[in-house]
Amino acid sequence: MSKPIVAVVGRPNVGKSTLFNKLCGQRLAIVEDTPGITRDRIFANCEWSGHEFLLVDTGGIEPKATEGILAHMREQAQIAIDTADCIIMVVDVRNGLTASDEDVAHMLRRSHKPIILAVNKCDNVGQTPMELYEFYNLGFDEVMPISSVHGHGTGDLLDAVCAHLDFSETVVEEDRIPVAIIGRPNVGKSSLTNRILGENRMIVANEAGTTRDAIDTPVDNAYGKFIFTDTAGLRKRSNITDGLERYMVVRALAAVERSRVALILVDATVGFTEQDSKVAGYAHDQGKACIIVVNKWDAVEGKETNTMELQRRGYAECFSFMGYAPIIFISAQTGYNVNKLMQLIRDVDSQNGARVPTGVLNEMLARATARMQPPSDKGRRLKIFYLTQASTRPPTFVAFVNAKHLFHFSYQRYIINQIRENFGLEHTPIRLVVRERG
Ligand code: GDP
Ligand code: GDP
Repeated sequence: MSKPIVAVVGRPNVGKSTLFNKLCGQRLAIVEDTPGITRDRIFANCEWSGHEFLLVDTGGIEPKATEGILAHMREQAQIAIDTADCIIMVVDVRNGLTASDEDVAHMLRRSHKPIILAVNKCDNVGQTPMELYEFYNLGFDEVMPISSVHGHGTGDLLDAVCAHLDFSETVVEEDRIPVAIIGRPNVGKSSLTNRILGENRMIVANEAGTTRDAIDTPVDNAYGKFIFTDTAGLRKRSNITDGLERYMVVRALAAVERSRVALILVDATVGFTEQDSKVAGYAHDQGKACIIVVNKWDAVEGKETNTMELQRRGYAECFSFMGYAPIIFISAQTGYNVNKLMQLIRDVDSQNGARVPTGVLNEMLARATARMQPPSDKGRRLKIFYLTQASTRPPTFVAFVNAKHLFHFSYQRYIINQIRENFGLEHTPIRLVVRERG
């Protein structure tokens, strides 16, 4: 269920983005666009020989103006070490080795992660440039000449990467729900984890980013079995002093990838921020069951009877691109609504994993198309022959139709809403794949 993560690191201009695009464009599905949010293109789903992994371009993480190149590279490398299962370090054959390459290589070697050195811009096929050998000095076992622009060597590179990855399904007990707690620094991720644990196992400090490592915590309680990943920390261990938010993005991404339910925490005393929707976008892109958790409700001042309802509408608007995500107001500090949250996690998880039998699905389709006629264009009317569920997490339906272009967005939305209403799937993302049948 959880995909391995591969990170690309290297100096500016060595060709990381070009490689990233090549590896994705070649075999891949870039994570679909989320309407309403612009994101850094720093990760994509890649597929090679039937295996899928997540590719992270650490170079796409914006450098701070104040940082030198070396500092930025070290930060990238640290992110890669903390999050990736395999790292591709890219160097430029034309520039030769630089001191910063050596520095970063040293860091990477110490991590004991599988590292592949991709020597880029080897544009002449079949000819191994003499300059290549210099790069063996970095001490990596795997040194591969590639040309990202032309694509030479990238297939071998993918083979080498995949050889290091474990694609076997992780053995998580089926009935244990993996939950990622994500959100900006200081929204209360650690406090919530502590509250759920019911004991103060972790130290929560008052400043942003001072909490400890992200950890997986199994929790068994009256609501079921869970495993919570709190993404608050890792900063300390990583000696990362700047750019916490950029770093958090990759952490959140990795945690979400490994979860079934994502809790997107926002701070009721601050309200919605752009960063919140960005973080949420990662979970949405991956088709996870999501819950918008508005924390610190206890600290909201001057609450009146309709304050919660008004705020709920405000948040619903901000997160309208994921209208299926329930919004709950809690206090990690007082425990308010935390039990309700546990129940909600169970509910959204079971919806996300639901299967609808084909028979009842098509009965519903017949009713739905009778109630609202499918659209037509130039005398030709859309006909949906058949609807079937292809997969779960998220529930993905395939519609076989006479002509794709007639299946307008608004009618797709109508059909999806019908599925939601009829089968109790209000709280999960749903995908609809449209296929033409001659
Ligand atoms: P990044 O900063 O590491 O992401 O590097 P880019 O991907 O932006 O590439 C920097 C420059 O190197 C661009 O002008 C690319 O077109 C060029 N480049 C990248 N890969 C290759 C390659 O394989 N061969 C050649 N000749 N140029 C390349
Ligand atoms: P993290 O960085 O997201 O893990 O946030 P923390 O859990 O470290 O919390 C940041 C600060 O918010 C700490 O001072 C917490 O005591 C405070 N906090 C967390 N949850 C609540 C809450 O429900 N109510 C109030 N009033 N404060 C909270």
